[in-house]
Amino acid sequence: MPSFSNPSEIAREAFRLLATRRIAPTPENYQTIYHEVAGTHPAEASAFPSDLLKSLQQELPRESPAQLRLSRELEQAAKGESWANYRTALVRFIQEQSAVEALPWGELINSLLREWDASHAGITPGKKREGLEHLFASAGNNAEALYGRLQNLVRSWAQAGHGDDVQLVDGVPPAATEPAARASAPASSRAADLVPQMRDLLAFALENAVAAQIVEAPELAAQATALAAQARKAHSVQAIDDLLTDLKRFAFRLELLADDRSELRKGLLHLLQLVIENIGELVIDDQWLHGQIAILRDIVARPLSLRTIDDAERRIREVVFKQSQLKHSLVEAKEALKTMLVGFVDHLAEFADSTSDYHDKIEVCAQKISAANDIDDLADVIQEVMRETRIVQINAQRSRDELQAARHRVQETERRIGELQQELDKASTLVRHDQLTGALNRRGLEEAFEKEAGRAARRRMPLCVALLDIDNFKKLNDSLGHDAGDAALIHLAAVIRESMRPQDTVARFGGEEFVILLPDTAADEARQALVRLQRELTKRFFLHNNEKLLITFSAGVTELRAGEDQATVVKRADEAMYEAKRTGKNRVVPA
Ligand code: GH3
Ligand code: MG
Ligand code: MG
Repeated sequence: MPSFSNPSEIAREAFRLLATRRIAPTPENYQTIYHEVAGTHPAEASAFPSDLLKSLQQELPRESPAQLRLSRELEQAAKGESWANYRTALVRFIQEQSAVEALPWGELINSLLREWDASHAGITPGKKREGLEHLFASAGNNAEALYGRLQNLVRSWAQAGHGDDVQLVDGVPPAATEPAARASAPASSRAADLVPQMRDLLAFALENAVAAQIVEAPELAAQATALAAQARKAHSVQAIDDLLTDLKRFAFRLELLADDRSELRKGLLHLLQLVIENIGELVIDDQWLHGQIAILRDIVARPLSLRTIDDAERRIREVVFKQSQLKHSLVEAKEALKTMLVGFVDHLAEFADSTSDYHDKIEVCAQKISAANDIDDLADVIQEVMRETRIVQINAQRSRDELQAARHRVQETERRIGELQQELDKASTLVRHDQLTGALNRRGLEEAFEKEAGRAARRRMPLCVALLDIDNFKKLNDSLGHDAGDAALIHLAAVIRESMRPQDTVARFGGEEFVILLPDTAADEARQALVRLQRELTKRFFLHNNEKLLITFSAGVTELRAGEDQATVVKRADEAMYEAKRTGKNRVVPA
């Protein structure tokens, strides 16, 4: 091809070639043919694309040191408009990246896991984690640096030497050597991390939970304390093995103790039942006492809880208290009566003896009188009669005096019994149960409320209070008599007690009003419980002279609010109860 030096000649020749080669005359094709004719390279010919490159560079990432370096080198090359430098920088960067990617990460991660799992003298898992965190923070995004430092770190762990032979490091046992355990390296190392905590917890439980529970077995309690100390010092595999053996032996002895305790509890309960069943036989004929004992029998027959034991204790105290008061006065009265009767009978016998003797003697005297021949004979007989009569008189006088004294003693005893009765009446204000129904009285309710409110607050559980009042009770009293009214109250109290849960408390609040405390119960559940009680009363009629009578009540139910006292919450229940009365009776209304 002839060479053209003049650009217009080159251009003309280029057009000619486009035509002869039948190439479409686009700007790109023209440019290509033009360079061919001129013998130049398109890139060389065009101006250096500084602007384009600048905008490209601005978009390149500059996060890692390598990227930053590349970006700086490209900038320099662009500034110097040197394609050669540009090319060199790019090629080196790509080669470096490929080298980093080719680093044997798999191998390194494998050895990292292996050494992490293994125990090393002087390097705790905590220290290992710290080392890794520090490394990641300082290596940033530089994969190459990260690789190098990680490799060094893992190598330093490996060089520290494995410590599974003797001492645990900071309480960390040697890693499991079985292949299976190795496969789950991260999990087992986490578990190893927890060992010191577990050891402390075990020691704490032995000292505070176990030893405190078995104070009545001092030898075992001491053993628990010793085991706690042993657990705290168990840093080696051998020590842990020994601890496990001792723990097993200890657990076995605990089991025996638990069996003994269970037997003991059964025995005590049986004894209690026996006592309660028999107090019934021993108590004086007092309806209230018999009622209390029947309730007690009920309580011990049910599964025991702190509440039932509480209730049983209160009732036993009252039975004992009242029984001792009554017994005291009754024994005195009986003694006096007995003495009086004995004296009376003795004197009666003496009197009878002496009078029959007297009659015999008088008869003999009469015979002597009729047979008497002279005055002297008569004088003897008369003297005898007078003597016998005087003896009878003296005996009669003595008997009268002694009978009078006995009567005084009886009167004195009667007075004393009266006094004791008054004392008992006064003391019965200390009693916590209503004498008629056996439900708690107001005083008992106050105590129970304090306990339940405290318990509810501590356990953050709701406590509900229900107040119920018998409907048209006056009418029942008026038509059937006060005794029937009393029997109806006793019946209602029994149905309430048997229908509500054992943990619910029943108290007689007034004449025909009862308060029920329902622990761990929200307002709507409490309303449902009262509705169930209504239904129960329709099934369990009150029997009067074999006639079935339906007792109904109206009730208000409310939930105790934080910090509220008994008066406030009962007042709210009372208002709801009145609402139930106002709107037709035989209803349960929530406050
Ligand atoms: P309401 O449906 O509105 O409650 O009417 P009620 O007749 O039940 O109510 P009221 O308050 O008018 O009458 C209550 C009656 O309860 C009056 C009283 O004689 C009687 N009562 C109170 N305590 C006792 C008790 O211990 N035994 C007996 N038998 N009756 C009692
Ligand atoms: Mg009333
Ligand atoms: Mg009433």
